[in-house]
Amino acid sequence: MKVLVVNCGSSSLKYQLFDMVDESVLAKGLVERIGLEGSVLTHKPNGKDKVELKADISNHSIAIKMVLDALSNPVHGVIKSMNEIGAVGHRVVHGGEKFSDSVLITPAVLKGIEECVEMAPLHNPPNMLGIAACSEIMPGTPQVAVFDTAFHQTMPKHAFLYGLPYEAYEKYGIRRYGFHGTSHKFVSQRAAELMGQPLKDLRIITCHLGNGASLAAIKYGESIDTSMGFTPLEGLVMGTRSGAIDPAILPFLIKKEGFTPEQIDAYLNKKSGVLGISGVSSDFRDVEDAASHGNERAKLALQVFVYKVRKYIGGYVAALGGVDAIVFTAGLGENSPNERAAICDGLEYLGTRIDPVKNNVRGKEQEISVDGAKVKIYTIPTNEELVIARDTKTIVEA
Ligand code: ADP
Repeated sequence: MKVLVVNCGSSSLKYQLFDMVDESVLAKGLVERIGLEGSVLTHKPNGKDKVELKADISNHSIAIKMVLDALSNPVHGVIKSMNEIGAVGHRVVHGGEKFSDSVLITPAVLKGIEECVEMAPLHNPPNMLGIAACSEIMPGTPQVAVFDTAFHQTMPKHAFLYGLPYEAYEKYGIRRYGFHGTSHKFVSQRAAELMGQPLKDLRIITCHLGNGASLAAIKYGESIDTSMGFTPLEGLVMGTRSGAIDPAILPFLIKKEGFTPEQIDAYLNKKSGVLGISGVSSDFRDVEDAASHGNERAKLALQVFVYKVRKYIGGYVAALGGVDAIVFTAGLGENSPNERAAICDGLEYLGTRIDPVKNNVRGKEQEISVDGAKVKIYTIPTNEELVIARDTKTIVEA
């Protein structure tokens, strides 16, 4: 079966076409600036040159249509017609408490996704646009939703409840949900494979460190805690997000600065984090570069980031009652030996240490702890698209 994986943002659409016989990627690409001037589709067929197709792409339906045309184009295409696509898998950010696993999309499921819009106003609507576009253009093809929140639905109540009046949970569903679930699931499974041990025997801490960043505590294959919460704002200090702060700062700032709810949201989500502290950039490469040239605030931003990750690791060791492996993934986790080393500095009490030679690796699957370490440390490139393709195939074939 060939599975098209679609990840829709408000003005972008990423896609990968998998041949599930060998899980190979036949083509992948990205539509950018949907609904804006200068929209473009960048299409990369496997084994052929990348092509850039500029057009007026005013909505997600046109974007999907262009993707299907590119995939079946006689020159840069990889299939003869879109009928070869057996199923479409969609990334959906928020599934609330309704979805604890991936599901076949039906009208009832769509309604469920819609009901979660309030909790993910920036993410679920574009995800739904992608689903609607595919239903319109490929009406006979089954579609599956794979949720960022689903893997964390195993969190026990004591981990997901906030210390708010219980009615906040009952009335509005205010609780911790967690995100990046597809990635945490994938890298924990890979770590177990690399260790040659069943996942159900292992306690693993997964560190997804990209622009958005979260940790998960995975006990015997199930997420028992994760650092993001009701929204992706909680937890670590991220590229542009503050992470957890004292909630009393909000009314204080509202009084001092006269912020509206939208302005507070932008302040915490877009202007804070490593960008806010360093004043340099949200991209860790720029911040690392500035720090290496002596920029004190850039150094400080990295220290704050690293310290928070290390504290969460310590907390999750306690939550798990020990740890067998720590895994680094996503942009920074896969590519920054410096930050991995800084985070793991001082973890010797756990019976582990990073091997500086093994750690000198980027974007590759590798054990990076010293030989004989009691707790293994790995860097494992994440592959959320592959998880979506696998889930889609499994559900459609069932
Ligand atoms: P997201 O999907 O959340 O946008 P990614 O997982 O792609 O994020 O991670 C992007 C981030 O990873 C970049 O902002 C950058 O800070 C970091 N990153 C990528 N490559 C490197 C590198 N070689 N060194 C340090 N940081 C890197």
